[in-house]
Amino acid sequence: MSVPDFKPAPNFIRNIINEDLESNKYQGRVHTRFPPEPNGYLHIGHAKSICLNFGLAAEFNGLCNLRFDDTNPMKEDIEYIESIKRDVKWLGFNWEDREYYASDYFEQLYQFAVDLIKLGKAYICDLTAEEVRNFRGTLTEPGTESPYRNRSIEENLDLFTRMRAGEFPDASRTLRAKIDMKSPNLNMRDPVIYRIVRASHPRTGAKWCIYPMYDFAHCFSDSIERITHSICTLEFEDHRPLYDWFLDQLNVYHPQQIEFARLNLTYTVMSKRKLLELVKKNYVTGWDDPRLPTLSGMRRRGYTPRAIRTFCELIGVAKRESMVDIALLEYCLRDDLNKTAPRAMAVLNPLKVVIDNYPDDQVEELDAINNPEDESAGKRKVPFSKVIYIEKDDFREDPPRKYFRLAPGREVRLRYAYFITCHTVVKDEKTGEIVELHCTYDPATRGGWAPDGRKVQATMHWVSAEHVIPAEVRLYDRLLTIEDPSDDPEKKDFLEYFNKNSLEVLSNCLVEPSLKNVKPGDIYQFERQGYFCVDPDTTAEKLVFNRTVTLKDTWAKIEKNMQKNAGYSQ
Ligand code: ATP
Ligand code: MG
Repeated sequence: MSVPDFKPAPNFIRNIINEDLESNKYQGRVHTRFPPEPNGYLHIGHAKSICLNFGLAAEFNGLCNLRFDDTNPMKEDIEYIESIKRDVKWLGFNWEDREYYASDYFEQLYQFAVDLIKLGKAYICDLTAEEVRNFRGTLTEPGTESPYRNRSIEENLDLFTRMRAGEFPDASRTLRAKIDMKSPNLNMRDPVIYRIVRASHPRTGAKWCIYPMYDFAHCFSDSIERITHSICTLEFEDHRPLYDWFLDQLNVYHPQQIEFARLNLTYTVMSKRKLLELVKKNYVTGWDDPRLPTLSGMRRRGYTPRAIRTFCELIGVAKRESMVDIALLEYCLRDDLNKTAPRAMAVLNPLKVVIDNYPDDQVEELDAINNPEDESAGKRKVPFSKVIYIEKDDFREDPPRKYFRLAPGREVRLRYAYFITCHTVVKDEKTGEIVELHCTYDPATRGGWAPDGRKVQATMHWVSAEHVIPAEVRLYDRLLTIEDPSDDPEKKDFLEYFNKNSLEVLSNCLVEPSLKNVKPGDIYQFERQGYFCVDPDTTAEKLVFNRTVTLKDTWAKIEKNMQKNAGYSQ
């Protein structure tokens, strides 16, 4: 089964938009936004949101804004803003001139807050953060009203002006919405809308010492930008009444918030806080470590934007949380790379082979196909000579049943070259390790086919010793040892499940000479081994490859899981 066999995944948001267009709710406009907080790098979950927001806008001839939700200066950084822009572009989306920042609206947001105060809908509260928490009540008990709740409008306006002017210490006061301390929805119990924080903001510097809270800034930012459909993840469902409340109080343009289930993937983590922990505690080498589900990590690993977009289309958009098998993501990647990645031969764990009857100084340039899936990719020459390397694992002195590769007395095919037969095994006297094989070749089998029609059971890749380029190859495994750490009955910290074997470095690899001029980001299929991407650590002296994904297709297994988990099947 291949990806195109799927019907387009269901997307209930598409249906809502269609209905809105029919009823002319927004005069036929569709305007979405992707609103990242610049407090970390984007991950594959964000890709789902990006594909959804930019994808729907494109589908309905609408627009999608890139808006940075930069209201928490203590956690935000220019580095993150730059990385987010890079990643959205790389995924293939274009916000044109619509690059916005919540911080650009600080003055307007402040005025909205003043308007709320004037309406008697907000007040300055002197309770500490802890007191606010204690007064809030619980899901089963109502909250208690703040003793500052009934300050006069004049006093509130005066205190808010002085808050802005920097007269009060950090956290000493807040501006709170005056809603309902008995509301069954905790978000409606007089939420804080402004707090005092003296922190340098990446864009506004020291201009402000009060900052709006997310719920307040977000709905008004959407309103200012005249967003039609404000698409966010399910955890904001309980915040929607607040979103609507703010906009209704001031009777301003009112977008509609629509929630969908966030993407969860097996064997990895998807929260920026946890990703930051892995980076800060040096479990990984940085935000772009190829083991991470960050877009920069995936790019370095060799993921293509097309594979990620296909994946996001396949998983669809639902209202119910589900866990997606990471094998599905890998399937999308293989499917893409199979069509596009040129083939090459590389030996990861080399074993020397001397072809005794091959002329000493002879070198033949043999024809090799660049991509059997794409004839236009053409052919290349690979040199063959008397001494070659094969994969250690492709030889067994004492082959078990069903092992068809090279063994003493056995004949196999060298891809694009000749049939060879193994005669002797040379071992290290001390360790007993096999260090060299002696073989003969059949000159009549040039190109890898016997004129007498005899068959061999195995075809192996190889490289010519005299022509190889040494390389380091990094192999990756799952980031975590369990599918879903949040499902752990022992509730251990997710770091306990970090896979200590998630990186294996092979430093004695040998690749064919056609790879001499590769550059970071180039992706190859190393025949029989998988897909490999040139790492930016590559220098003139040292080639470094990341294994993007193995060749093994676990599609049958994915299909079975999909039937079990209707979350992303039909
Ligand atoms: P995280 O929970 O990973 O820290 P976040 O929600 O705090 O992410 P934001 O920068 O606020 O990160 O997210 C920007 C947009 O991406 C939001 O609209 C958010 O709902 C969406 N988003 C974040 N994580 C996911 C996910 N796993 N699946 C789908 N959308 C996501
Ligand atoms: Mg967020």
